[in-house]
Amino acid sequence: MKLLFGGLPIYHQRLIRAVLKFYNIESEFLPEPDYEAFLIGRKYCSRGFCNPAYFTIGNLIKFLLEKKKKQEDISQYIYVTVGACGPCRFGMYIEEYKKALKLAGLENFKIAVLDQENGYKLEGIEIKKPFWFIWDLGKAIMVGDILRSLRYKLIAYRKEDVTIENIDQVLDKIISEFEKAFEKNPKLLNILKTAYKTRSCIKEISLDLTKKVPKVMVIGEFWASSTEGYGNYKLHEYLLKNGFDVKADYITNWITYQFFIKRKEGKVRKESNLKSLAIMYLLENAIYLIFEILRKIYYNLPDPLVKQKELYKLALPYYDPLVVGGEGHLEVAKHIWGAKNNIDFVISVKPFGCMPSTQSDAINYKVSKDYNTLFISVETSGDGEVNVKNRVSMKMFEAKKRFENKLKKVDAV
Ligand code: SF4
Repeated sequence: MKLLFGGLPIYHQRLIRAVLKFYNIESEFLPEPDYEAFLIGRKYCSRGFCNPAYFTIGNLIKFLLEKKKKQEDISQYIYVTVGACGPCRFGMYIEEYKKALKLAGLENFKIAVLDQENGYKLEGIEIKKPFWFIWDLGKAIMVGDILRSLRYKLIAYRKEDVTIENIDQVLDKIISEFEKAFEKNPKLLNILKTAYKTRSCIKEISLDLTKKVPKVMVIGEFWASSTEGYGNYKLHEYLLKNGFDVKADYITNWITYQFFIKRKEGKVRKESNLKSLAIMYLLENAIYLIFEILRKIYYNLPDPLVKQKELYKLALPYYDPLVVGGEGHLEVAKHIWGAKNNIDFVISVKPFGCMPSTQSDAINYKVSKDYNTLFISVETSGDGEVNVKNRVSMKMFEAKKRFENKLKKVDAV
């Protein structure tokens, strides 16, 4: 049985595949979803559904139909996805996926759902040490986040003669080393050693860290803000090419949020026992520590991982953090964090009609007024690229003007 997965940025997917290989699980990840995948998803799913679902299932159907056309055996695959209950439409994704597969003539294709209800177990796949398996996947995600942020910094602060292709070649060397490390031995010490061994590669790129570059932060609904593909019209790449230093949403942040909010809910509702609260606390703090060590190894170039406690306190005057669903209070908290940490421009990106993000947007306009930030919220319907890029371009112009004025004021002091 071959495990099929997708939906994350490419670095993360490569590293996850390497961890799976260590656990003797054969796997393959889907290519980045494109516009065609979106159209296929929309054709087979219900109208007015969230576009992450269109992209995800459309991409899977496209992949399977292409395999079938080449007469390859698709029964060897099992697609793995995460599931959860509401309160937004996320709870309905699995049924929608199954329906779409049936309509596309692929009703016998197997989907496995990783969710809380089944204790994050995979039907048909035996994992000997589930705790360490999840922990190793977590490390792969942390390294993926660090390298993605590192890439953004290298692009933003490169000297004029360095191209993005040069940077991608160096990053590819680094990620290949990590793939080998995760395949062979994903223990923490080995991963940290690999980071240390590969950091000298960065010296191949000439940087000018004194360069004045405006900073932009991309926040929003988890999938829309973290994908690097057509799901947000390649927004991160667009901003980088227009001379911005991009602070991307970390997937690790989503993991620490899960631990933090479960602890908070447990305390308030007196549901969790002390042992599980303590384990969640330890895991969350271990993640901050490892992330910070990795950052330090790479000369502090990647952006910091903000602690959940800090985000919680920032959001509290505006948003009840116990209201969960989508990103919960995080969009508001990140925006305020950006305002306090020299971010020049904040973009919130959400799929068309995303309920939790719409709530956050309403509050974020108030935050923008209170903190005098440059904020824009864009909705991605899947086929509105020109509109979105127009709006972002106009704000980019404004952000650059504000940034120039800020520099002038600093020079005048
Ligand atoms: S967070 Fe938004 S886009 Fe994601 S499933 Fe919920 S409603 Fe849909």
